[in-house]
Amino acid sequence: MKVLLVHPRADRATIGLQHVMLVEPLELEVLGALTQAPFEPVILDMQLEQRSLRWHLREQKPRVLAMTGYITNVPAMLRACRQAKAMIPGITTVAGGVHCEVCPEDLDDPAVDFRVVRNATRAWPDLLEHIAGQRHLPAGVLRPGQPLIEAELPELDFFYPRPARHLVERYRDRYFYIFHDRVALLKTAFGCPYRCSFCFCRRVTRDRYQERPLADVLDELEALPQREIYIVDDDFLVSRKRVIAFLDGLTERGIDKHWLLYGRADFIADNPDLVERFQRQGLRTVIVGFESFQEADLQRYDKGSSLAQNEAAMGALNCLGIDCFATIILHPDWDRADFAACGTWMRRMGIRYVNLQPLTPLPGTGSAVDDEDLLIPRSDLARWDLAHLMVQPGKLSQAEYYDQLIKLYMGTLYKPKDLYDYARRYPPRMLGKMIAGTWRVRRQYLAKRRAARKAGV
Ligand code: SF4
Repeated sequence: MKVLLVHPRADRATIGLQHVMLVEPLELEVLGALTQAPFEPVILDMQLEQRSLRWHLREQKPRVLAMTGYITNVPAMLRACRQAKAMIPGITTVAGGVHCEVCPEDLDDPAVDFRVVRNATRAWPDLLEHIAGQRHLPAGVLRPGQPLIEAELPELDFFYPRPARHLVERYRDRYFYIFHDRVALLKTAFGCPYRCSFCFCRRVTRDRYQERPLADVLDELEALPQREIYIVDDDFLVSRKRVIAFLDGLTERGIDKHWLLYGRADFIADNPDLVERFQRQGLRTVIVGFESFQEADLQRYDKGSSLAQNEAAMGALNCLGIDCFATIILHPDWDRADFAACGTWMRRMGIRYVNLQPLTPLPGTGSAVDDEDLLIPRSDLARWDLAHLMVQPGKLSQAEYYDQLIKLYMGTLYKPKDLYDYARRYPPRMLGKMIAGTWRVRRQYLAKRRAARKAGV
């Protein structure tokens, strides 16, 4: 009995990261590892598949279709479940993933038989047994129409088996993250101990933070043939003691990799010696949520770090030759002067690669706004991509806001000196992908600006 585990393709309306990165569906590999006979797991990565899902459904005739995704994938997940129901009588459809765990109501549909909302790694094997008629429905799984009642859910349990990476072997060569080619994903912890108000990640684990034992992480790493490793923890640089133990473990076991990871500016600023050691042990890129160039913004986001720490962190990374992929939140109250000041600050800081995110009131976060204040309704989740303008700007028209955003991107990403430096350090193929991907994002934004001008908004 086949279980089709499907990673959806990004919607055409979604702006963003899919143009500069394409990574393995780690959560599906974990479900694959937990899928036992008589069920047989097959992972379909629709980001890379040439043929349609319809074709695969017809060929594979799965007993179960399971999908995970982000908020922007919800429409594609619903479409796929409806298509499967129409094509294969008796198929069971399952939805899960980070958005489903926080907002299962968005996937409440007659075509979705089960929504996994808690402890997927525990619930999944039991759910398969339930589908086979051998046991009752496990806790943490909702049927259609059933609301999420937090008090009725089981305690969080961060059980994590070794992902079945062989299930994506045929796609492996095409995964990348900006300049990191053939990158493999590694998870060493769940959640984040910080409380930034805009952040959705921490909602998924209900503000809990749990680390995997390092010995287990190092065992997993030893078995990974890939050189480029992307640590997908919400924040890997949490504890100095743990980072030291991790680096010691790499040395003892002779593990030699290149690292891409998320880290907070305050940790980098406060631990330059450790970041320097990490650089010697292969740290190539850190994704840092600077969020803003103004102290007042950092405070209103409860970021818990200061502008001085942002600046010290960027200085340390530049000094060590570690690439920084920065994230900046564009507040809807910004005016032209704010955009200009942000550009000046980024140039002064030596920020060369940035992800600009118009403030997005994701459900469950402290940035939530009333539905009537949203420019994009909850029914249009493909555009809830942290790239569209979600809230009416206070001081600019929407067209002007997009215009400022495009200028800020162009002024940061395409400086000849930086492109020359990338060309020296990375294969032309990777630089070409980066330029083509960011150019596609630019095209999408130009279309947004045109549409806003046409609509006079
Ligand atoms: S933004 Fe980063 S540091 Fe802040 S809560 Fe989210 S994951 Fe943690």
